Amino acid sequence: MFFTKKTEENPKYIFVVGGVISGVGKGITASSIAKILQDRGLKMTAIKIDPYINLDAGTMNPTEHGECFVLDDGDETDQDMGNYERFLNTDLSRINYMTTGRVYETVIHKERNLEYKGKCVEVVPHIPMEVIDRIEAAQKNAEADAVVIEVGGTVGEYQNMLFLEAARMMKLRHPKDVAFVMVSYLPVPSKVGEMKTKPTQHAVRTLNGSGIQPDIIIARSNDPLDEKRKEKLSLFCNIPFGRVISAPDVDSIYDIPANFEKEHLSDMLCDILFMTCKNSRIKSAEEWDLFTNRIHSSTDEINIAVVGKYFDTGNYVLSDAYISVIEAIRHASYGQNRKPVLTWINAVDFEADPKKVQELSKYDGIIVPGGFGARGIEGLISVIQYARENKIPYFGLCYGMQLAVIEYARHKLGWSDASTREVNPSASHLVIDIMASQKNKLDANNYGGTMRLGAYEAYIGKDTIAREAYGSETVSERHRHRYEVNSKYVADIEKAGLVFSGKSPDGTLMEIAELPKSVHPFFLATQFHPEFKSRPLAPHKLFTAFVKAAIERKK
Ligand code: GLN
Repeated sequence: MFFTKKTEENPKYIFVVGGVISGVGKGITASSIAKILQDRGLKMTAIKIDPYINLDAGTMNPTEHGECFVLDDGDETDQDMGNYERFLNTDLSRINYMTTGRVYETVIHKERNLEYKGKCVEVVPHIPMEVIDRIEAAQKNAEADAVVIEVGGTVGEYQNMLFLEAARMMKLRHPKDVAFVMVSYLPVPSKVGEMKTKPTQHAVRTLNGSGIQPDIIIARSNDPLDEKRKEKLSLFCNIPFGRVISAPDVDSIYDIPANFEKEHLSDMLCDILFMTCKNSRIKSAEEWDLFTNRIHSSTDEINIAVVGKYFDTGNYVLSDAYISVIEAIRHASYGQNRKPVLTWINAVDFEADPKKVQELSKYDGIIVPGGFGARGIEGLISVIQYARENKIPYFGLCYGMQLAVIEYARHKLGWSDASTREVNPSASHLVIDIMASQKNKLDANNYGGTMRLGAYEAYIGKDTIAREAYGSETVSERHRHRYEVNSKYVADIEKAGLVFSGKSPDGTLMEIAELPKSVHPFFLATQFHPEFKSRPLAPHKLFTAFVKAAIERKK
């Protein structure tokens, strides 16, 4: 009963685990594995396991954890979920994301409901069993031929042990349907000057200690692996020579699927999992090739300034906090055969030195992405004013729209202390206010998962930049915010010239604000987050419109 007989039709499960260190691209590896199998005609889905107690990524600081990626169903998840959606060109749901907190919450809930029928409920096996149930549910939901499951953290950590235990149990149950891929790292110590395999050997032994033998090692490093290193890893890690995959650093993450295929990774996985990949390559794979070719052939640059606030902990964190924004700019730019050059500017810098805004004139476009709280907002408002008055293409995302409305109210309506309740609740003109439905939640300190989250429909007004870009009257976009344009002031603001070109179906919530083209070449901001729906093979239409405006300015 516990062992299932293998048939080719059994769904397959590929666990991706990390060895040695974090931050070497496990999420991109998992996405790329899913992508190369999808390109062989298999129906794929992907799952991210985060070992945190947090029920979701919504309450974590982006400077610590990176971007919080929002799904259509409103789940606040890890940024890797964004990578899966972008690589697979598919929408995922909360069933594809789990944390330790979620797993325990369900088990405790079931226990209270007597679902364990009087048994003693134990960490093992009940927690891993719940993990397995969730993995199988995600497979069923997607009717997937194969599922890629990325286990967060690195082997040897206490916090992901129960997830590895679940993986081991799945392998025991379905010996021919489960594969393990370890993403490792080979350092080149500067004084030694030689690529070292020992940390990987230790990581594999640690994984062996959990009862798991990796089938494949993805060897991340600055440079390609040589034969000698492959032989060593093969011998000491008990892995056939050909299954040690060299994965050197690349300029673009979107090249990684093709690099894996140079090492025949999809064939290898088909062998290990007794799968028949019917197609050698499907059509979307060719579209992907066209996209990656454009990345390399686009040499004309456009210069975009992203002015944000999550910059405190060093450069490398920046790209993590706004990863979907960066990718959306890339998709739209390459779509227009332009190479985007992004400059990150800390909003606080403009507060210390008000003249600094003038430096923005050298950019072809300015983006103010989402954010929370008071820090840096006066700097952001002065940036938006400069972009508006100097006709620099401006694209505001969520907070970037709320602040654009505040800027307009202050400088075009003369409401000099106009603000948002989030920052200055006693302002005389709260042009951005808390949504009625949100107030009680905040009063009760009920923060987790309670914002306006996920996909909502919006109506797009005729003869607007938004309508021209979308080409349709209704759109669906993903949200993550508590505050809104205050309906009390909408008429006055519109009279002063700002157009609300997107509204909720009942007309009460302002979804897009823009200036007419006769006034400004591109001044548009959204209450939602268009960046969450941009894909390499389907750049977001508003990002494309912004990029086109930036190209015009450059001319
Ligand atoms: N802080 C604002 C709000 O909660 C904007 C949120 C965001 O930019 N995601 O409404």
